[in-house]
Amino acid sequence: MNNPPSKWICDTCGEIIEKPEDGYIEWLSRTDNAHPRYHRLVLVHHKPKSPRERGCYPPKSKDVDMHMPLSHFLGADGLTWFLQQLSDNTFEDREEPIEMMKRLFVPGYEMARKHFDAAIADDVFEPNTKPGYYSQVQIKATLRWAEENHQD
Ligand SMILES: [Zn+2]
Repeated sequence: MNNPPSKWICDTCGEIIEKPEDGYIEWLSRTDNAHPRYHRLVLVHHKPKSPRERGCYPPKSKDVDMHMPLSHFLGADGLTWFLQQLSDNTFEDREEPIEMMKRLFVPGYEMARKHFDAAIADDVFEPNTKPGYYSQVQIKATLRWAEENHQD
């Protein structure tokens, strides 16, 4: 929590989100027996910062579109929000909030995550955990490898 990532990657366009103010977190909500059920959780560019003319927000859906600035989710209150969703089981697939928590709170994870498979295939580290739950040493090795190999 002391060293959050300073940049993120947009789920829609794949370009860098430079600052918290430039990002939005969005998800869909449908009601199931009076309980909200969330799905399609994404991190995208805020419209004014999108490199795309039509923006990076996901296409409209019949479900209710929920969204908040990325800055709202960083820090302890954001962590608590995600923990409440896990406690209440609001997401249809709990891997969605878990993955987003890693992206927001595990140092280096966001920039390393698309390189893990290639780094492992190149013997950068030997996985000894569930896939995606890598240590800081493994994440740093992956980032170093990606930089040396000019992967982006
Ligand atoms: Zn984008």
